[in-house]
Amino acid sequence: MLRARHCTLLPLLATLGCGRQLTGGPPDYGDDAFPDEDTADDAGGIGPIVIIGAGVAGLATAGALGEGILLDQDSVVGGRALWSGGLMHFVGIPDQEEVGVTDSPAIAATEWETLTGWPPTEGTLRYLEDSAATHQRLLDLGLKYGMLAREPLTGIQRLLTLQGEGPALVAALAAEVPAAVDIRLETSVEGLLWQDGAVVGVVTGDGEVAARAVVIASGGYAGELARLAEVAEGEFWEPSSRGGSGDALDWAETDQLGLANLPNIGWLHRHIGVPMADGKLIGFTYDTAAPWIWVDEQAARFIDETNVESVTLTGPLRKAGSVWAIGPKDEVFAALDAAVSVTAEAAVAADSTLRCRGDVETLAELLSLDADALAATLTEVAGFQTGHQTDPLGRASDTFVPYSGELCAWRPGDTASKTYGGLVVDEDGRVLSTTGAVVPGLWAVGEAAGMGAPGLAGRYGFDGTLSAVVWSGWRVGDRLATE
Ligand SMILES: Cc1cc2nc3c(=O)[nH]c(=O)nc-3n(C[C@H](O)[C@H](O)[C@H](O)COP(=O)(O)OP(=O)(O)OC[C@H]3O[C@@H](n4cnc5c(N)ncnc54)[C@H](O)[C@@H]3O)c2cc1C
Repeated sequence: MLRARHCTLLPLLATLGCGRQLTGGPPDYGDDAFPDEDTADDAGGIGPIVIIGAGVAGLATAGALGEGILLDQDSVVGGRALWSGGLMHFVGIPDQEEVGVTDSPAIAATEWETLTGWPPTEGTLRYLEDSAATHQRLLDLGLKYGMLAREPLTGIQRLLTLQGEGPALVAALAAEVPAAVDIRLETSVEGLLWQDGAVVGVVTGDGEVAARAVVIASGGYAGELARLAEVAEGEFWEPSSRGGSGDALDWAETDQLGLANLPNIGWLHRHIGVPMADGKLIGFTYDTAAPWIWVDEQAARFIDETNVESVTLTGPLRKAGSVWAIGPKDEVFAALDAAVSVTAEAAVAADSTLRCRGDVETLAELLSLDADALAATLTEVAGFQTGHQTDPLGRASDTFVPYSGELCAWRPGDTASKTYGGLVVDEDGRVLSTTGAVVPGLWAVGEAAGMGAPGLAGRYGFDGTLSAVVWSGWRVGDRLATE
């Protein structure tokens, strides 16, 4: 459990009481949220600058800062980007000009509400203004981009996929971290160290580390399944990769730091998990050639199952209510590796979470679906598979298989690729307390800081927020390097 050593040293904040603040409405951070730069006191304690977390945000901060201590509880650097795709969001870049797209921060700002469901905040505007520079700085690190793709909802070509995806980004940022940065892996931070209302270091499992400033880069809470279940409804949550500790939120609760936009989660539905009786999950990845179909409570398909990448497809899934994935047993098991197959066979034998039947009527009864409706869906799908009919949902005929013989059904698991809310920071990345005051000595970047600025990702989130994660790390690293 995470503990801060502060309350007796911080009477003002200690009187405010603890408790989670979930803000789901439009952002309103008040006039005090962005204090005048001259009056804000950045000073914390003495010593080096300590960065908590060596994911993309922490690595970018450390590279720009060029010194300090970088702590991570994992045995490797990179955080969740080690498993991530490379989709990144940019505005006003040469790649757009080359294909005749006119774009600018001002244009993007006018469409921000269409894209994310919220008007742009001050932090959003800063992110957009710096977008072209972020794009160039990544090129300067030797990274390369693929073709421009359209962002959902506005249809404007603003998305670039980084060649080599998340791992290439991690490698490039890690290469920029100079030897002067003391990287300490397998070091878990348990809480913040406070003195006279300022953060003066961190508490680790190995003891206290004094710091003149602390940068929280510990990521979001996509790995905290209980918190996800509390914040958003899901059939059941499963981890989408390692990480997403949610520790920044724990510190916010004990230390009265502002939190915003927590219900905004980047959902993924492609990881199919089967919970076993012992509580363990077996999971297998839903890839775009997946042989299975998904049906809703009426036993009807409702989505192109090969195109569930974008977070904006969350809506149809939510509306579908209780969803079953259904596929031919042979094909389903072909998608599993040998070790998982054994466990999956056990699930089938137990008839628990992976249910297989040789006839549609019995299967439908087991799933509480209308047998005629399910049979009709399977007949319809057979028409798509043979090419006699075109799927109105847009799925290509060669991605279907014959849905005959023994069929298996299971619940698709909900996973979070990222979380869009987090600590409230000012436009420079300084953490604000629940009262909106700057906390001296404390900064936050990346997912821990709601992608670097409160309200940046709006109500729906947007694709390619790795750009904001990197941007926020560079912004704080550059700033602290000059102090
Ligand atoms: C499957 C998948 C695909 C994705 N695809 C994309 C994509 O295409 N485009 C996109 O924009 N985003 C994508 N994302 C999201 C993206 O990877 C993350 O938003 C981003 O990597 C977050 O970076 P971060 O540095 O803020 O946090 P993290 O990567 O979570 O890093 C935080 C680090 O802090 C460490 N840490 C946490 N708590 C502590 C503690 N108490 N003490 C010490 N260390 C601690 C962790 O070990 C970790 O290394 C994807 C994510 C997943 C899982």
